[in-house]
Amino acid sequence: MKTKLLYLDDAYLKESSAKIVSINTKSPQVEIVLDQTIFYPQGGGQPADTGTIQTDKGIFTVSHVSYNDGLILHKGKLEGLMNIDDKALLKINWETRYHNMMLHTAGHMLDQAVKNIDNKNFGVDGNHGIAKRAFVAFKFPVDESLIGKIEDEINSIVHKNLKITAENISEKEINKRKIKLQFELPKNKDLRILSIGSYNPMPDGGTHLKTTNECSKVSITGIQEKKGQWRVSYSIEDRENKIKKDKSDSSNKIISISELKSKVTNVQNLIKNDLIENLVKEELKTKYLGKKGIFNDLAKIISQVGSANKRQAGQILNELKTDITESIEKSVVTSGNSQKKWVDLTAPGIKPKTGHMHLVSQAMEEITQIFERIGFSRSRYPEVDWDWYVFESLNMPKNHPARDEWETFFVDAPMNKKMGKIVLTTHTSNGQVREMERLNSKPPIRMINIARCYRRQQDATHTQMFHQFEGLVIDKGINIQHLKGTLDYFAEQFYGPGTKSRIRPFHFQFTEPSLEVDFSCHICHGTGFLDEKTNKVNGEAREGALGHAPENQRQKCKFCKSGWHEVGGAGMVHPNVLTAGGFNPSLYTGFAFGWGVERTYTLKEGLNIDDIRLLYSGDLKFLEQF
Ligand SMILES: [Zn+2]
Ligand SMILES: [Zn+2]
Repeated sequence: MKTKLLYLDDAYLKESSAKIVSINTKSPQVEIVLDQTIFYPQGGGQPADTGTIQTDKGIFTVSHVSYNDGLILHKGKLEGLMNIDDKALLKINWETRYHNMMLHTAGHMLDQAVKNIDNKNFGVDGNHGIAKRAFVAFKFPVDESLIGKIEDEINSIVHKNLKITAENISEKEINKRKIKLQFELPKNKDLRILSIGSYNPMPDGGTHLKTTNECSKVSITGIQEKKGQWRVSYSIEDRENKIKKDKSDSSNKIISISELKSKVTNVQNLIKNDLIENLVKEELKTKYLGKKGIFNDLAKIISQVGSANKRQAGQILNELKTDITESIEKSVVTSGNSQKKWVDLTAPGIKPKTGHMHLVSQAMEEITQIFERIGFSRSRYPEVDWDWYVFESLNMPKNHPARDEWETFFVDAPMNKKMGKIVLTTHTSNGQVREMERLNSKPPIRMINIARCYRRQQDATHTQMFHQFEGLVIDKGINIQHLKGTLDYFAEQFYGPGTKSRIRPFHFQFTEPSLEVDFSCHICHGTGFLDEKTNKVNGEAREGALGHAPENQRQKCKFCKSGWHEVGGAGMVHPNVLTAGGFNPSLYTGFAFGWGVERTYTLKEGLNIDDIRLLYSGDLKFLEQF
């Protein structure tokens, strides 16, 4: 069965009905599947919708939505009762969705604007509001000096008021119409293309505006090189502002006396400030009482005051005028004896500080996105869990010596006969059997589980709390090549093109065979050496001239051990673990992998952190670098 995606046909649906197909209350967040939905699942750079699903007896608050093999999973909190086959009323938070639509459409217009300026260039990736970021990443360099030009170009597309259409299409049709596609199409979804005016269409599964000028004004906020791509960040003007502006053009709103009074107070405050700033008398006169001055501007408002209040309004305005005149007369500074300070217009401005996500959160977000692109879904499981899920079900029976490797925190709570003691999870692997149970031991499983873990050790290279991410895939015919392919895919996506994975035999209790995973060093491209002339990596030099230089004359890469980094463990899921999760190991196989988020990220940024505790110190000097 597949969920019918109503938002694809009509992105403006704010409400609809649907039938409940399944409810899963086993995971920490309740999960609902419907026969059809207006909720957009996170993907293509567009954030998931939020909203409510309501039946006669219950209300479900949707906090996240994801796509899993044709099914849309609505995750959130259930109050009251819901049953399979219940009829439900769906409502999305339209304000948020509409903003996301604007951002998404703006992203495509930005792509087009850059193409219009440099026709070789094109966008290869984008984020339209996930984690409050918006950018399009371009294949080739985009120079900062172009910011103004790009901004003009994109806003001219906005003003052209072009029609935006989306259509479902077959691969054959794409070839027939000679539509040029600049990146690979997602294989797990139906093909759909988006056209803006007569520009070349592009594949897209998002929700979009109907015309370009529905979008607010777009600003380009920066250009940054990241992972060999050029990220052009953008923002759109607040929708409220646009609505206000649109309205004020044809405004005939009635102004009340109290509104007028508050405007008058604003002007009085303004002039007080100017007097403190020692503005020159002549300048003050022009600014406040001149033909195009502030007073005349405010006085126009009288036409918007209701006729019953006109007299009173006139009086208030007259008093204001007297007040302004007296204030200006009191000012002692004139152009003749100006004590006004010089203003240096060339002095650099003060840049306001902006916040951003902690680097570990950034890493988790990025890792999730990379795996979601190949069909993984993110799950969350308890961080305080039964011994059964953390150890026993993972082929580590009580008193097994392998348990000693984990410096476990135990919770002082009553034991359960089957489940054992309660512990703080030492690894994300407690999610394995839980995920198998959540899906009622029905394949396929493609899970990515990112969570906090706890171990009783603290020194320069360990913190008592840290993050791990863990992948689990179970289906018929899964073999070690799938694992290697997934590792290679992640290496390239996360560390950049050309990064490879390497596996070495190892031992873990819950996998057989077990492997250790290394990634090639992206600083020296796996060679272990840097270019001695520039101290930089240079692809051509590496394979060309320098490849012949004697090793002792080349500079070693300080960042890695001869070209490789150890990152973590992986392996084929042990038959005992499959059995514990209700799978028949003679029918199904699977692989799992997992390692620390902190190390994965610091490696990528080329950081040699002497003391890993720095990550959680809250030291802004350190955190502001990311
Ligand atoms: Zn898109
Ligand atoms: Zn290296």
